[in-house]
Amino acid sequence: MLLKLRSGVVYGPVNSRRLGISLGLNILPFKNKVCNFNCVYCQYGWTDYGLISEMKKEDYPSLSDIEIELKGFLGDMDVELDYITFSGHGEATLHPAFGEIVDLVNDIRDRYAPSSKTTILSNSTTVGNSEIRGHLSRLDGRVMKLDAGNRRMFEAYNGPRADVDFNSVVAGLAELEDVVIQSLFTKGEGGNFTDENLTDYIQMIKRINPTRVQLYSLDRDTPSKNIFKLIPEELTKIQILFKSAGIESTVYG
Ligand code: SF4
Repeated sequence: MLLKLRSGVVYGPVNSRRLGISLGLNILPFKNKVCNFNCVYCQYGWTDYGLISEMKKEDYPSLSDIEIELKGFLGDMDVELDYITFSGHGEATLHPAFGEIVDLVNDIRDRYAPSSKTTILSNSTTVGNSEIRGHLSRLDGRVMKLDAGNRRMFEAYNGPRADVDFNSVVAGLAELEDVVIQSLFTKGEGGNFTDENLTDYIQMIKRINPTRVQLYSLDRDTPSKNIFKLIPEELTKIQILFKSAGIESTVYG
């Protein structure tokens, strides 16, 4: 079963494989998935680009909506959070006031949960923009998606909107300080676990020079029926390639 859309700004906290106790922040409109990718594996289903192009600023949660929900949760909180994580049903950096929200969330964290860190799970599509890179750099962490090693796989696997360019994504990631790359691999006709993609992908990762790569496969149902979960040995094969290229990685799953 695909996941339901989030009905508010704050969700969880969840005990995440990668982030520990993490409070999710969804700063996207509640009624629609808002993403400039259409990944074959998306747990929220296919993206409707037509719908997204009609979105206005008022459709997104406002700064005061975000402040009220986050303060309300943190004020009553009885757990110690490891992370407050921008995630949700789409790409958080598409919020028209993303930079102001980063500062707001950092400020609320300082006052209500000072031992936690702020981070983002981003699809990397806006990282070519230096202003967005500036906003991302004010978070404590950045976990950025890269599943493809070349434009052909990028277009087939992630289904980017027409304004998203593969080379600009890789160049932007290479400019970003202290970046963790997250990569979801699948096999089958629609998968990215191919020799050609892996060869190109390793080259792109070397260029980006991340602090670490997080490797994982499917955990949930997918909109595409042409992709399948890798077995642990297949993920380990990718990790061995990384090791020989001098890149640190962790396998989840
Ligand atoms: S980037 Fe995330 S939300 Fe967007 S389509 Fe891909 S998996 Fe779904």
